[in-house]
Amino acid sequence: MRSLREYEKIVGSAVLNQLEQLAENLTGLKVVHVNSTKAGGGVAEILSWMIPFMTELGITASWEVIQGDEPFFNVTKTFHNGLQGHQVNLLPSQIAAYEETNRSNAERLRPILEDADIVFIHDPQPAYLLHLCPNRKGKWIWRCHIDASHPARSVWKYLRPLLEGFDASIFSMAEFSKSLPHPQFLIAPSIDPLSEKNRKLRADEIARVRTKYNLDPGRPILTQVSRFDWFKDPIGVIEGYHLIRKFAPVQLVLAGGGADDDPEGAEVLRLVKEAAADDPDINILLLPPDAHRTINALQRCSTVIIQKSTREGFGLTVTEGLWKGKPVIGGDVGGIRLQVINYHTGFLVNSPEGMTQKIRYLLNHENMIEIMGIKGREFVRENFLLTRHLREYLTLMVGLRRGFASRLIAAA
Ligand code: UDP
Repeated sequence: MRSLREYEKIVGSAVLNQLEQLAENLTGLKVVHVNSTKAGGGVAEILSWMIPFMTELGITASWEVIQGDEPFFNVTKTFHNGLQGHQVNLLPSQIAAYEETNRSNAERLRPILEDADIVFIHDPQPAYLLHLCPNRKGKWIWRCHIDASHPARSVWKYLRPLLEGFDASIFSMAEFSKSLPHPQFLIAPSIDPLSEKNRKLRADEIARVRTKYNLDPGRPILTQVSRFDWFKDPIGVIEGYHLIRKFAPVQLVLAGGGADDDPEGAEVLRLVKEAAADDPDINILLLPPDAHRTINALQRCSTVIIQKSTREGFGLTVTEGLWKGKPVIGGDVGGIRLQVINYHTGFLVNSPEGMTQKIRYLLNHENMIEIMGIKGREFVRENFLLTRHLREYLTLMVGLRRGFASRLIAAA
């Protein structure tokens, strides 16, 4: 396991000293994070480093995963889609399945949750647990990772009263915050620059992965890494690729696997394969959840990274691409806007045609690829590395402990 001090060469010693000083106020604090999948997707990616580093800083941190069956994950995917603005219908039977799964998880988790000083509930899947832990002694925080700016009425009507019971909530950007009767905090996610997903790789390892997937080093490689999810718009990426192929011999990589809590992946993948037909230059790679080094190598051997989402809470894949010195062509939505700055770190686009035009520009201005890559990496160093993320979580916890939440409410 890495130690935080290993990050000194990337972020400097002052940043680490500050984390240690903040954490002195939190020694022995019992903190529990709860989400709904151990692997796949950005939340699991973040929790896998956050828990060990909180522990290293003297906090008693743990990570619990709620277990659910297919009906449960169908409902929570409905929540997810509804929160991100799709018009969905929420049936009473779905609500019953959601609450029942939370109830059975509460039987197992209640002792640790009621005893915790701070509980972070990630996204809506485990949110009902709050109402099943009546003897909770700590503060409970709802951490929303998705773009909840324009939720479907049916979903928000159910979730809102449930979320009102939390002591605070965290959103990734101001646009996502909601009208809720508790303090709300803005904390953007981040990446671990020394993880298998992001650490520097040797050139021969990158070349091996490139060869393994039959990618031609002599032609531009465009890569989108994503779960197969409608909001990631893989079909739109293929449309854009077809347009680019009219003027440049690019290759496309669509790399993704499933997440345990995402039941729609198989259907999206089927349609992606249909759209790709038998084009040998479209590489659809189904990777296991622990293929971090492979993804790392694929991102590093790419010319441009794409994340053409139509909704995005943040988009760690954007951060990962920027950190590897690649310009990112990103959908002009949500957290991608925090990271992609036109003509500096990449381009924001709204259509396959926009994607085509911007990639064409980059392929015609190779020096811009390099300049943007350098800027993108520095932008991530300044803003989206785990040390900044930890600092904001620690600050929030110190504040909650000292009761600023209640003072803020009193002042409102
Ligand atoms: N990821 C992965 N394997 C895949 C697809 C995605 O490891 O097949 C990782 C990806 O590298 C990133 C995270 O999962 O670290 C996805 O986070 P993001 O915020 O981009 O999207 P989310 O899936 O949370 O909507």
